[in-house]
Amino acid sequence: MRQKLVIGNWKMHGSLAANATLLAGIKATPARARLAVCVPFPYLAQCQAELTGSSIGWGAQDVSAETRGAFTGEVAAPMLGDFGCTYVLVGHSERRTYHGETDTTVATKALRALESGIVPVVCVGETLAQREAGETEAVVGRQLTAVLDALSIEQLGRIVLAYEPVWAIGTGKTATSAQAQAVHAFLRQQVAARGSELAEVAARLPILYGGSVKPDNAAELFSMSDIDGGLIGGASLKAEDFLAIGNA
Ligand code: PEP
Repeated sequence: MRQKLVIGNWKMHGSLAANATLLAGIKATPARARLAVCVPFPYLAQCQAELTGSSIGWGAQDVSAETRGAFTGEVAAPMLGDFGCTYVLVGHSERRTYHGETDTTVATKALRALESGIVPVVCVGETLAQREAGETEAVVGRQLTAVLDALSIEQLGRIVLAYEPVWAIGTGKTATSAQAQAVHAFLRQQVAARGSELAEVAARLPILYGGSVKPDNAAELFSMSDIDGGLIGGASLKAEDFLAIGNA
């Protein structure tokens, strides 16, 4: 049985004052799922101070594919480790779209996170045009394969996967539970198909769904057999909604 995991992606939102209120709200009531928040880099220290000793994890929204050196503006995985990060998002569609991140870059970022003991939350997903062209499995399969090629079996046993259809992110459009379940089952089966030694990894792999998850649609999505929780954007900015999703 895989425990449900609900991760908030704050994107480029927040302030020290607003975060203090939000974090206090999230900490106030225990949720049935494991909870974590992925926040802008400058707020990692605040999360470390506020969440250490709580059951809530924290992490970043990106990590450099490099480990150190002359890479102005980049943040390396060991730096995230200094701030107690458990998770880091890699390959979010906003990074792939606005920053030209390729499947190979995303896979390297996942590797860098794992080398620092941080769980990469590897995001995959198709655009609306790709879905309408019947390319969903080809697209998410290609994005996943780059990661499967780059990591060892032991490392694959430490990742989290997130299926986020690009057309559902921040749009208010959610994949139906059946649409999401079909892609999640496909992703799990792709991992298992790599060989018998990956059967156990595939069975244990947490696969989160992301894309306009709200308190009123989370329970149905999370009831599907291959949906192990959610990656939550907009609704993670309100403690009440985030907790409701964590209890869905
Ligand atoms: C996201 O940013 O990963 C996301 C799923 O956003 P939203 O929940 O707002 O669609």
